Amino acid sequence: MRELNEIIEGTIKVLEDMKRSGVTHVEVSSETLEGLSIPCRASGPPALQHNSDPTTELAAVEARAKVCVKCGELSRCRHSVVFGVGNPRAEIMFVGEAPGHDEDMQGIPFVGRAGDLLTKIIAAMGCKREEVYIANVLKCRPPENRTPLPDEVTNCLPYLLSQIELIQPKVLVALGATAVRALLDVQLGITKMRGHWYTFRGIPIMPTFHPAYLLRNPPAKKEVWEDMKAVLEKLGREVPKAK
Ligand code: URA
Repeated sequence: MRELNEIIEGTIKVLEDMKRSGVTHVEVSSETLEGLSIPCRASGPPALQHNSDPTTELAAVEARAKVCVKCGELSRCRHSVVFGVGNPRAEIMFVGEAPGHDEDMQGIPFVGRAGDLLTKIIAAMGCKREEVYIANVLKCRPPENRTPLPDEVTNCLPYLLSQIELIQPKVLVALGATAVRALLDVQLGITKMRGHWYTFRGIPIMPTFHPAYLLRNPPAKKEVWEDMKAVLEKLGREVPKAK
């Protein structure tokens, strides 16, 4: 007997390797499809529908993340896999670094002190948390909140990439250096990059300071607000008056 997680991970790895090497379709019997609860349909590319509701696909990616054991240390230490929250059709998607203690305990990203500040930033933009989507580069908490290791980012990035591909936000906001480095191949520090637009797979991305940095350095909130105003302007939304 083999452990189920091992079988799941092995199967996913084989399929992901096939996808990476350019395979787009596989032969599957109708019995197998039935067993997987996937409806049979005429052959032909499945094509991701723009504006279709990605809730089911997101749930499938989340289910895979929940049993992920690619990072031995993180999967052993975690209390929860913190996948992401918010509107699956969000126009704005925020990407942070990794869950901290509070997020690990609750299974929800950005619910600790840095999260409260992010929630305030979102409110200042005239939005609610439920309207945007919030995720992290890593779905598991690194012990003692250490910076994610390069291998951990490599292991976990496919989940974030799937989230972005499914949600197709109009704007991405990269919160801090880890998110910026994971998504953009630019060798500049966050201080130089923030406030400037970059593109990630055709989606405008605004790098800005991480809310945890703002807790240590409150004067930098001014710059983050400038960046969020640029996000609102990019979306053609009105900038709420400062309260
Ligand atoms: N910091 C992050 O980057 N993400 C969280 O979810 C919480 C704190």
